[in-house]
Amino acid sequence: MARVRNRMATVGVDALVLSVGADLPYLTGYRAMPLERLTALVVTRESPPVLIVPVLEAPRVTPRPRVFVVETWLETQDPVSLMAAALGDSRRVAVGDTMWARFVVELLALRPDLELARSAEVMSPLRAVKDPMEIEALRRAGAAADRVGRALQRGEIPLVGRTEAEVSSELGARLRSEGHERVNFAIVAAGENAASPHHHPGERIIEPGEVVLCDFGGTMDGYCSDITRCVFTGEPPAEFRELYSLLLDAQQAAVASVRPGVTCESIDRVARDIITAGGHGPHFIHRTGHGIGMEEHEDPYIVEGNSEPLVVGHAFSIEPGIYVPGRWGARLEDIVVVGPEGVEPLNRIDHELVTVES
Ligand code: ZN
Ligand code: ZN
Ligand code: ZN
Repeated sequence: MARVRNRMATVGVDALVLSVGADLPYLTGYRAMPLERLTALVVTRESPPVLIVPVLEAPRVTPRPRVFVVETWLETQDPVSLMAAALGDSRRVAVGDTMWARFVVELLALRPDLELARSAEVMSPLRAVKDPMEIEALRRAGAAADRVGRALQRGEIPLVGRTEAEVSSELGARLRSEGHERVNFAIVAAGENAASPHHHPGERIIEPGEVVLCDFGGTMDGYCSDITRCVFTGEPPAEFRELYSLLLDAQQAAVASVRPGVTCESIDRVARDIITAGGHGPHFIHRTGHGIGMEEHEDPYIVEGNSEPLVVGHAFSIEPGIYVPGRWGARLEDIVVVGPEGVEPLNRIDHELVTVES
């Protein structure tokens, strides 16, 4: 909380209001249910932070009296006026990025004098730099995702003759049995579907002789995993091998370029320049990576235009992809952490295009 208040002073924010989303549990250990009822933590410069919760949710709050006081509201009360009161005479207020808009609209109706800012201004630099406990949690999640990926690469997960959706649910079940409390996504994209980066696995049956792109992740002890590996059902044609080896070069070069002081956009450029030189520039249609922590996608983003320098404790994905519409595609993704000496990869299983027989 001291770090939050320092940051509030630095960016000229009088109060911070957090609701649905990861910022609230990051500060309080309490995750608000995404309900129509308002939950809000109000942090001003001086008064003790107030956690406003519906009375029926209060049993789920672990009291931390040195961090915040709890204020409950009954079904017949107006929680927005409680929030307005907790703000006191604050003028510039940073509101949670994922707070429901309706509560912000209602707050502004009560307090038209407020000047709003995004909570990211305050929270993003704190959240983006992981402490040793957070890095340890990311390591465990990464190792668990690696065990699932290894089973895929060893052919222990049958592919041919099954639907993408069936393979997706098996990946999810394996993430859970490896210790994840939640599966956030399990993309399985076969053949031409691999050209769509966020393909939704469906009834398409996986055939022999095609690429199967698997991108899966979940949450373990509050922190996320995210990995992509491609396997080929049978011997890949030379043309696909070439595409994949270009992708592998790009991904490995980008990983190797990670160290403190290097900018986010320069990591993107390392991967993009290699793919462009190989003739697939137009087929790499997304940023190279995203930060990861309590959320699958958070700061820092590894994208052109982000000139923020990497610092020790940043954790993010490096996941270039090449997508040829109507034909095929490939992506290769690892989570990495910036250490004092350089990069620490949290995903270590085979990066090559693995051939599976069934
Ligand atoms: Zn994604
Ligand atoms: Zn992914
Ligand atoms: Zn990712």
